[in-house]
Amino acid sequence: MSQGFAIVLSGPSGAGKSTLFHRLKEDFPQLLFSISCTTRPPRPGEKDGVDYHFYSQELFHHGIQRGDFLEYANVHGNFYGTPKAPLLNAIQKGRIMVLDIDVQGARQMRTLLPPDFLQDHMEFVFVAPPSLEILEERLRKRGTETPESLKRRLENARKELEAWPEYQYLVVNDQLDKAANELKAILLAATCKTQRRTWPTTP
Ligand code: ADP
Ligand code: 5GP
Repeated sequence: MSQGFAIVLSGPSGAGKSTLFHRLKEDFPQLLFSISCTTRPPRPGEKDGVDYHFYSQELFHHGIQRGDFLEYANVHGNFYGTPKAPLLNAIQKGRIMVLDIDVQGARQMRTLLPPDFLQDHMEFVFVAPPSLEILEERLRKRGTETPESLKRRLENARKELEAWPEYQYLVVNDQLDKAANELKAILLAATCKTQRRTWPTTP
């Protein structure tokens, strides 16, 4: 059996992280998704406990004080945090978990987690749009943002994109099939790393 690990997906809002996760899940139904906590209000169709755990400011700050989060950050004016327990539990059980977190959260993980843990259990993938123009077009078409939120996300995108060299992998989401195949290849290669395998295998 392979050792558990986590794949962090970062990239500007609208880059396609969520779409790519759902494509990956078609090929790897056993994949887990890390359900973040956020103070952002739900979008139409989003379900509490499925897409996010939707928290009040108060609840989120209690979570910080209790040390519930592996990392947390203020992104586009709302708080987002990764619950610690489900991720550690998934890794311990040999599962693969995908995290959709921003560049600040990924930086915290690389700084705070012990080097051995990072080496054995974490992979960092940056998802970029082919251009800022296409990013804007996709975000507009998605139709989930208010004009203010759209403006803020686009303003932040330029800065976020500069972070791509900090990652181990870059997937440019131009053609969805190609990008999904690249992510699948990353997942398969990550599964084959020696630190995640045993040999001879037990029957
Ligand atoms: P993120 O999770 O990074 O914010 P989404 O997965 O919601 O981004 O994608 C943003 C929008 O772009 C969605 O409406 C999605 O359907 C669309 N999209 C994603 N990938 C592509 C692609 N390769 N080509 C065209 N549209 C795409
Ligand atoms: P959205 O509001 O579009 O769902 O997400 C906005 C941004 O928040 C995205 O860049 C996403 O990666 C990031 N995000 C979602 N969950 C977390 C989290 O738990 N921690 C951090 N740091 N960022 C997150």
